Amino acid sequence: MEYLSNPHKIQQCPGSPFVAEPFVESHRLIRISEIFQSVQGEGFLTGTPSIFIRTSGCNLRCWYCDTRYASWEPEGDSLSVEEILRQIEDFRIEHVVVTGGEPMIFEALTDLCRELKRRGKHITIETAGTLDRNASCDLWSISPKLSNSNPEGYASETWVRKHEALRYAPQVVESLMAKGEYQIKFVVGSILDAEEVLEYLAHLRGYDRHRVMLMPRATQTDQLDIQLSWLADWCKSHDLRLCDRQHIRWFGNRRGT
Ligand code: SF4
Repeated sequence: MEYLSNPHKIQQCPGSPFVAEPFVESHRLIRISEIFQSVQGEGFLTGTPSIFIRTSGCNLRCWYCDTRYASWEPEGDSLSVEEILRQIEDFRIEHVVVTGGEPMIFEALTDLCRELKRRGKHITIETAGTLDRNASCDLWSISPKLSNSNPEGYASETWVRKHEALRYAPQVVESLMAKGEYQIKFVVGSILDAEEVLEYLAHLRGYDRHRVMLMPRATQTDQLDIQLSWLADWCKSHDLRLCDRQHIRWFGNRRGT
């Protein structure tokens, strides 16, 4: 992948040593790993038939990432916005989820969202909330990464340092929240993770508690059930939302779903 610096169009976590390396191949192209039709399995729009546009490439390296083909080992061709629109024109579905990888690394995301909106689409952008961009959508679906995402022992030392330098960016999350509708989904695998969410929220300004969701770190139905057995009560006692991963139950942990 060719890396181009683009510091004027992208806002990285302030203080990060990686400000000028946003992984953008070309300002007019977006690398795409897959485009498919399915049903949303997480968040406010669970159950909504949607087109999924999965971009390829990510500025983080969460060890538990379940779409490695769009992050750790990115696949797919770089396509123009026109080509992406051509590939979805036969889907008669209103909702579009732009996910990844990390869609926000691509400058052309702004153009893609503008053209989708022009075609009457409802747009959700899934992001880890480490990069800001002047793109507009109908729902910002932000999944800030906790310390439980640290790839130590899995990734190179360079990537571990990079991941830790970038993953925590509450000021970027606040900026995305200010752009419109949002939901915040934290991936948790233990009580300690859930408690870290409270710590995170203590440093996040202006959020609506009822838009904050805790989601089990699980890719199998039995793992989901084990996690939910304690997480449901924990969410209830802290007045936060529980978020299941219904697509795992419906389709299994399969690509293209
Ligand atoms: S931010 Fe998302 S796509 Fe990127 S490595 Fe983490 S889980 Fe995977």
